[in-house]
Amino acid sequence: MAEALEFDAAEPHVVRIGGAEVPPGARVDLRLSVSESYIGDRMTIPVTVLNGEEPGPKMFVTAAVHGDELNGIGVVKELLATLEPNEIAGTLVLVPVVNVLGLPLHSRYMPDRRDLNRAFPGSTEGSMAARLAHTITTEVLDICDVGVDLHTAASGRANLPQIRAVLDDERTLALARAFAAPVLIDAPNRSGSLRSVGHGRGIPVLTYEAGEALRFEETAIGVGVAGVKRLMSHLGMLLDPDVESDLTPMEADETHWIRADRGGIITLEVSLGDWVSEGQPLWTVSSPFGRDRNPKESPYEGVVIGASTIPLVNPGDAVVHIAVPGGEGGFDEDVDVESFW
Ligand SMILES: [Zn+2]
Repeated sequence: MAEALEFDAAEPHVVRIGGAEVPPGARVDLRLSVSESYIGDRMTIPVTVLNGEEPGPKMFVTAAVHGDELNGIGVVKELLATLEPNEIAGTLVLVPVVNVLGLPLHSRYMPDRRDLNRAFPGSTEGSMAARLAHTITTEVLDICDVGVDLHTAASGRANLPQIRAVLDDERTLALARAFAAPVLIDAPNRSGSLRSVGHGRGIPVLTYEAGEALRFEETAIGVGVAGVKRLMSHLGMLLDPDVESDLTPMEADETHWIRADRGGIITLEVSLGDWVSEGQPLWTVSSPFGRDRNPKESPYEGVVIGASTIPLVNPGDAVVHIAVPGGEGGFDEDVDVESFW
């Protein structure tokens, strides 16, 4: 590990969150108060705190900041089912649903179409997005040393399990390697995201992206659960680690969406995780009369990390997302996703 995270592991490690006190060795379900609905109901975010008997780092795992991205909920559900305070050192703060207003609408966005992941750190006076963001920032991010924010591809696309982080930050790179999703992508922070606010406050946050919106997918969830446990193990938070940790992800410093230059009905010639070489056909387009047009050839050599799931394109539509290896852990073969879980 390049540069150690420094944790305040002084005892006793009582966790104060949402007005509650969680003593060492306790598991507490609570609701963080945010605001109120049109009809005056309390609006809350459900949180479970697992406070280990042993002191150690504090880690949060958030899911569904985008309300239609459900695989992260599946990851948190599995962590809730498989971890207890007597198995961990430090504290795990699990938030299965951050966007509690988008989720019931099956919507990525807030009801007013704001993107919650552009509203951090938020405020107590702003829109509902700002208030939700503020609650997560102050009650969850600020009390933790490190975090994982779980996402999926946007509607109509699918992602190979991947970590996005600022990899030229040594500390973050070490954590991303420890999580060991199949691909690590050096991705700049976007203003207003939970990850960027964490970065600004010295709290490394990894963004995990896997699968499609509105699905529970075994692979996306399996790699996510294993990754969180690998990260915990790396930080000394798992007293009896049961996860494979000797894995080398591919590191990519650039990614490219390949766009359609012709419209029509497409047949993808590649799948998520495929290694593609320059000039290899990525898809073919056919006209409504069934005539095939020239295949679209890959301008890059790399791994397919994202693809459209809709077989219809207009010229200019992004169809296949390719990560070009750089840094360590480069390889030139198909990714065996199953081995990362
Ligand atoms: Zn998302």
